[in-house]
Amino acid sequence: MKIHEYQAKELFAKYNVTTQEGYVAETKEQAVECAKKLNASMYVVKAQAHCGGRGKAGGVKLARSIEEVEAAAEKIIGMRIVNKQTGAEGKLVRKVLVTDAVNIKKEYYLSLAIDNEHAAIVIIASGAGGTEIEEIAANQPELIVKQLVSPITGIKDYQARYVANRIGIPKANVKEFIVMLKNMYKLFVEKDCSLVEVNPLVETEEGKLIAIDGKVNFDDNATFRHPDILELRDIHEENPKEYEAGQHDLNYVSLDGSIGCMVNGAGLAMATMDIIHAFGGEPANFLDVGGTATTERVTAAFKLLSDKQVKAILVNIFGGIVKCDVIAEGIVIAAREVGLNVPLVVRLDGTNVERGKEILKESGLKIYACDDLRSAAKKAVEMAG
Ligand code: GDP
Ligand code: MG
Repeated sequence: MKIHEYQAKELFAKYNVTTQEGYVAETKEQAVECAKKLNASMYVVKAQAHCGGRGKAGGVKLARSIEEVEAAAEKIIGMRIVNKQTGAEGKLVRKVLVTDAVNIKKEYYLSLAIDNEHAAIVIIASGAGGTEIEEIAANQPELIVKQLVSPITGIKDYQARYVANRIGIPKANVKEFIVMLKNMYKLFVEKDCSLVEVNPLVETEEGKLIAIDGKVNFDDNATFRHPDILELRDIHEENPKEYEAGQHDLNYVSLDGSIGCMVNGAGLAMATMDIIHAFGGEPANFLDVGGTATTERVTAAFKLLSDKQVKAILVNIFGGIVKCDVIAEGIVIAAREVGLNVPLVVRLDGTNVERGKEILKESGLKIYACDDLRSAAKKAVEMAG
């Protein structure tokens, strides 16, 4: 789960990770009120959307007066940020964060993430922080420092000091840096994060370290034990179909292809996508209805597949715990409710398969029934054109 920068900074403040004061606004009038509360000589107005690269896209503007804050907010609210992270349709900006600006002497990169290979939290840092960090990581990886953290000891002072020295934190700020990094780690562990990132971490002209950008992601498998974090969820930022799927406990991921897939079990879903590829097709989604699908859940799943981009639907169910007749009933109810206007290819096998096939036949719906996965995938690719 992702949150906005302003929410990440609220968490930073709770964990004593130094950041600026700031307020969030949904209109330019509110932005003016925010600026007045700050009473600063210079401000930054920042697009709040679940993506990075806002600076390069014109979503971060410095303002020298309240009037400039108003003008910047007017430009940013309602803009669309389009970059590698957002995909072609981009992200609509609904809010801005208004903060006091800091005088930047140097920008660093500092984050905590999960290192899957070592099954540990890793510190990632660089003295070349800021908006070019992706290019730096790709072209000058020697400028990126990594340190694995032992889950037993947590971050040790010597590790934090090593990182500080490697990225060039001034001697006078090393203590401050160690405290900040340890506080980020505390946040990471206590809130079950998957990422805590500060880019840039800034050394100011006045000689302080401040996190002027913040990104915090959470492990979806652990949010159930953090109701305070779940409250930070902004459904406007999520893929509407993925959100809807989550409401029905379906594992759903939107993809770019033309074949809608409904499968039970993640492994079978992966195999189905592979075999669609093998026959030259492209799946429109990954959808696992789970091992314990009910008619209601199958109906919801089927509705998710009814989309403009979908030219054929492939249902591939192996009835183990879930029964084929339950799946068939769900398909029939949903197809009637949403209106079936693309070819539907169904491969059912396993528990109650005969009853399932009967239900589909009796429904009068135009369904291509296949007995094995190969012929079903081939048919679906053919029907999708
Ligand atoms: P991102 O582009 O989405 O990562 O947004 P950031 O919050 O990281 O801002 C992008 C860039 O804007 C930073 O790298 C800074 O160079 C600049 N910036 C952001 N806040 C300030 C500020 O308070 N003062 C100054 N001088 N520059 C800022
Ligand atoms: Mg940034």
